[in-house]
Amino acid sequence: MQFSDLKLIDPLLRAVAAEGYDTPTPIQQKGIPPILAGHDLLACAQTGTGKTAAFALPILQRLAGSAPPEGRSRPIRALVLTPTRELAAQIGDSFTAYGRHLGLRNTVIFGGVGKGAQIAALRRGLDVMVATPGRLLDLASDGAVNLSRLEVLVLDEADRMLDMGFIHDVKRVIALLPQKRQTLFFSATMPPDVRDLAERILVNPERIAV
Ligand code: AMP
Repeated sequence: MQFSDLKLIDPLLRAVAAEGYDTPTPIQQKGIPPILAGHDLLACAQTGTGKTAAFALPILQRLAGSAPPEGRSRPIRALVLTPTRELAAQIGDSFTAYGRHLGLRNTVIFGGVGKGAQIAALRRGLDVMVATPGRLLDLASDGAVNLSRLEVLVLDEADRMLDMGFIHDVKRVIALLPQKRQTLFFSATMPPDVRDLAERILVNPERIAV
């Protein structure tokens, strides 16, 4: 299978080629079609399998395909929750690389650094936010983040987020989101607490494992 068999738009195919990717990895082959079709997804996948592109490419395609809603402000339409700042930075870089021909904006939000630059980026408007849960809640309680127009939520490395004690923060973030949305859930392992969270927040998910 080739990337061109996955019904990805030309600007994404060019970006993927520029990254030097030759063929889609198994998680990309199995995950991209249901995500493009708008389904929720429960994916059991380790880091290193190409899972970031498996969710970033179809999300970018969705955002590129519908004009941003009216008005001056640019609402956050996709949110990726991830456990660590390193992962958040890597995922943000991936969105930048894959979306280079699309004119969409992303920003990365994590704790341990000042809030000023993050608040400034939020004020400028963005399409995709990649965040760790604690700092996101902090900025939301400052009134700096509006998630009322969100269309897609990704939970990345859900098992690690729960191991790190973020379950309550994750639930609080989810409570800020519209109920009508697409939710994509990625975890390397599926212990009972992770499965419980997935069952609560996914609607008729497509299930894949690699
Ligand atoms: P991830 O599992 O998303 O952390 O990706 C692991 C690594 O695989 C990253 O360095 C990606 O740039 C790379 N990668 C993702 N998809 C492909 C692909 N289809 N072909 C080759 N490398 C890829």
